[in-house]
Amino acid sequence: MITVALSKGRIFEETLPLLAAAGIVPSENPESSRKLVIGTNRADVRVVIVRASDVPTYVQYGAADLGIAGKDVLLEHGGAGLYQPLDLKIAKCRMCVAAPAGFDYAAAVRRGARLRVATKYINTAREHFAAKGVHVDLIKLYGSMELAPLAGLAEAIVDLVSSGGTLKANNLVEVEDIMPISSRLVVNQAALKLKRELLQPVIDAFARAVK
Ligand code: ATP
Ligand code: MG
Repeated sequence: MITVALSKGRIFEETLPLLAAAGIVPSENPESSRKLVIGTNRADVRVVIVRASDVPTYVQYGAADLGIAGKDVLLEHGGAGLYQPLDLKIAKCRMCVAAPAGFDYAAAVRRGARLRVATKYINTAREHFAAKGVHVDLIKLYGSMELAPLAGLAEAIVDLVSSGGTLKANNLVEVEDIMPISSRLVVNQAALKLKRELLQPVIDAFARAVK
């Protein structure tokens, strides 16, 4: 049996063509079904639906053999116990620093000011600002980072952006690019050895489909 950990939403939607290329078709859509364990056309493959940030944990402990997670999530998790063979080039966006349109971020940095930055991505943000020599107090949030500067919680945020529409709608501008983000295939390292004959064909089909 192969268990694949996926999150609902864009990752599930963008993973369907890759699964199809491997001959795997989930029997239900998690958006309309409340089931968290979903069968597929193959008796030996099932999908478990988890929070995006929980995908690496399920795969790390072997509760899932395979998973698909954003680079953002993998950097925060740390990647222990995970083999990451493929960039699937789906759910593409970028991680950046954003601040209110009226705030002179560059000047504040030049002054050596201590900035309050709200983010879900504490580890990645800490590394980014340390490498740049920017002094920050990081505030952990679990969502809606765009609200933090508007409500006076922080001067800036570290968040994911694709079109920039949400930033714009909240009068925020991108002031620093951190890195491009896309989703990766993650595989439990022990499962790869023990179930290689089941897992390798799926990994190979994904690799061909990405090309
Ligand atoms: P949760 O809703 O469970 O807190 P989440 O909000 O991180 O998790 P999604 O919004 O489905 O879940 O994002 C899943 C992944 O998709 C992210 O980890 C990231 O890699 C990628 N992603 C996030 N925002 C965008 C975006 N605007 N465009 C493209 N990809 C994105
Ligand atoms: Mg979300």
